[in-house]
Amino acid sequence: MTDRAAYVQMEGICKTFGVVKANDQVDFSVRKGEIHALLGENGSGKSTLMNMLSGIYMPDSGSINIGGKPCHFHSPKDAIRHGIGMVHQHFKLVDILTAKENITAGMPGSFFIKNKGMTEAIGNIAKKYGLQVQADRKIYNMSVGEKQTVEILKVLYRGADILILDEPTAVLTPQETDALFNILRNMRRENCAIIIITHKLNEVMEISDRVTVLRKGQSIGTVNTSETNAKALTEMMVGRPMSLEIQRPAVTGGADSEPLLDVRDLTIENQEKIKVIQNVSFQVRRGEILGVAGIAGSGQKELCEGIVGLQKVSGKVIFKGEDLAGCKPGNIISKGISMSFIPEDRLGMGLVGGLDIVDNVLLKSYRKTKGLFVDRKQGVSMAESIVRRFDISTPGVHHQVSKLSGGNIQKVLLGREVSLNPSVIITAYPTRGLDIGASYNIYDVLNEEKKKGVGILYIGEDLDVLLELCDRIMVIHQGELMDILPASETTKEQLGLLMLGHRGEGADHV
Ligand code: ADP
Ligand code: MG
Repeated sequence: MTDRAAYVQMEGICKTFGVVKANDQVDFSVRKGEIHALLGENGSGKSTLMNMLSGIYMPDSGSINIGGKPCHFHSPKDAIRHGIGMVHQHFKLVDILTAKENITAGMPGSFFIKNKGMTEAIGNIAKKYGLQVQADRKIYNMSVGEKQTVEILKVLYRGADILILDEPTAVLTPQETDALFNILRNMRRENCAIIIITHKLNEVMEISDRVTVLRKGQSIGTVNTSETNAKALTEMMVGRPMSLEIQRPAVTGGADSEPLLDVRDLTIENQEKIKVIQNVSFQVRRGEILGVAGIAGSGQKELCEGIVGLQKVSGKVIFKGEDLAGCKPGNIISKGISMSFIPEDRLGMGLVGGLDIVDNVLLKSYRKTKGLFVDRKQGVSMAESIVRRFDISTPGVHHQVSKLSGGNIQKVLLGREVSLNPSVIITAYPTRGLDIGASYNIYDVLNEEKKKGVGILYIGEDLDVLLELCDRIMVIHQGELMDILPASETTKEQLGLLMLGHRGEGADHV
């Protein structure tokens, strides 16, 4: 299907990695002056397709045309020569250099261009597209949003008029996302062709002119954004109709009930004696989900580890009336606090990769029963019920955990924590990387636990999910508690401002 107005035309693209067909006969086109969203679940082949357009991979078969001419890219340099620039999920900047040095690095002849000339050229591009960058600032001093702006400037400085952004908003606050979208609109006005990879439907609806949906390596179709909606796009993405509503059952404990977990003046220092958590106080009540929002690295990890005794803390961690600060992790966990921190926990403290699912389940209940009895039969039935409840793809409960996919390991971890019937569940990023169906399954499980009276501390990154799922949301910024807000009366923008360290005016409803 040839798009006559297309500037970039990819047709019949195939790419296989081992046994995985990452792209299977994909057609994709972009016009000048268009923002085109590439939408699909994790692993659907979006990055692979764009990595071929930016010269990182070569397709096994299929063709790429730009401006009507066939192109064969053998390296990113080839693609850059054709005006293609890609801003990757993980930035490729040199930390110890300044923005300007990063932007001009590796440019032919740049060594001979006078410093002043470069600064002027960067300034002109920045002005044209509305980018705000301090050219002489070192990258390590910059926020994620600023680093991304440098990446975009770098690509534009190389003369790109086709810009690919891979999940650019995943790491941004709502305010930074708005700023990025304004830049993209300016680029559209300047007749650039823009491709934005995302799995967020609200962003597709907000920013794009057209959207192409990938599912399991295949293109499901391209539609005009104005002629579709979130429901239809979800169905294209998932392959079946799905409700994207997250339930929020009423808090069972009631606002005036005794808190299950009462954290007071928690302070944690890192090895350099820097306070990574500072005087943080909050309570988790029975049957509520307390969300934690913050820019990545704001102290989320230390907070979780501090509560379960994996970090030295000062302050109090009162659980059911008993101060657990300073206790050993095994002791704290056996009292009924469970913790799963997804990014590093998959095969870290949580699970032993070399063991099967049953043994991993037993590993923890064994400790709980002080090692008197290890009932393997019970372990098998627990493991089987976890596999069922969390829809884990595994040949069986005796399959080695390290041989499962990342998402399935994650589900084993959370499944085991939940199956031990803790009173408090601390869970960080449990749906990271999971597909939509699996993520909603996790929200359901957390809600079921909440209804039983479990208190849940949910560290999340998707603000839309936090606002729907949680009862209250606390925001941390550089280890400090900014505020605790009732989710139903809070907006994403309010959360974003707090995440950036701006205290809200009149934000006094803790
Ligand atoms: P998306 O960007 O939509 O999340 P990707 O394009 O990254 O998806 O991946 C599509 C599929 O190809 C996945 O199953 C992924 O594991 C696989 N894949 C991607 N890159 C590689 C690679 N370099 N080696 C092996 N498999 C890969
Ligand atoms: Mg990707």
